[in-house]
Amino acid sequence: MATAPKIVFLDLDGTLLRSQDGHVAFNQAIFKTFGFAGDIRTIRPDGKTDPMILQEIFDTAGQDVEWGPADWQTFSENLKECYTHAVSEGPTRVRALPGVPELVRELAGLPGLHLGVVTGNMEVTARLKLQAAGVGEHVGPGAFGSDSAARNDLPGIAMERWSRHLNLPVEPRHCVIVGDTPRDLEAARTNGMKCLLVATGRYHPLEELRELHPDALLPDFSDTRAAVDALMGLFG
Ligand SMILES: [Mg+2]
Repeated sequence: MATAPKIVFLDLDGTLLRSQDGHVAFNQAIFKTFGFAGDIRTIRPDGKTDPMILQEIFDTAGQDVEWGPADWQTFSENLKECYTHAVSEGPTRVRALPGVPELVRELAGLPGLHLGVVTGNMEVTARLKLQAAGVGEHVGPGAFGSDSAARNDLPGIAMERWSRHLNLPVEPRHCVIVGDTPRDLEAARTNGMKCLLVATGRYHPLEELRELHPDALLPDFSDTRAAVDALMGLFG
């Protein structure tokens, strides 16, 4: 019998990559869709899904905006267009964090191990960011902010997608979440998955993450060997 597939679900922002001036496209898309000059810099988006972020921007500005699936669809199309433009023409620059390209390549070469995504970004922007960071080709299906506003829903959705993709059952104990915030850890625990946290996010230094007792913790991914070992040690 074939061994059960192992899946690593990677978070994007603060874990694999960082965007410089990434707020520009988000703000443009809000204005284009809702005619309101909302600003993502008025809130802390880390670890949140895009729908949560949008609602929080409205709430913070005291804007009582009602939006439904059709508005969401329009917003997502606008965001894709604005983000594509911001990345290709500037000002937005997306960079892989140190050691990430090496780590992703190394993991992608391991037999029976698959790389997926669990991120609060909408799928359209997640794919653009992964490509811009130069790691898109190694990262397969996942779950996104466009699937659910609740981050804790995402690991289950991602697991289901991988099960269909591989046409094999996938179990939570064979999935590991990799992220940079307490929300990544919470999403992993809620879904019975292990979690590796990395302290390359903007708001959560190593000591703070250590207090949460993640299953594994790294300061960054600059040591590929250490990162691979830490990750592989988490699979049951
Ligand atoms: Mg993150």
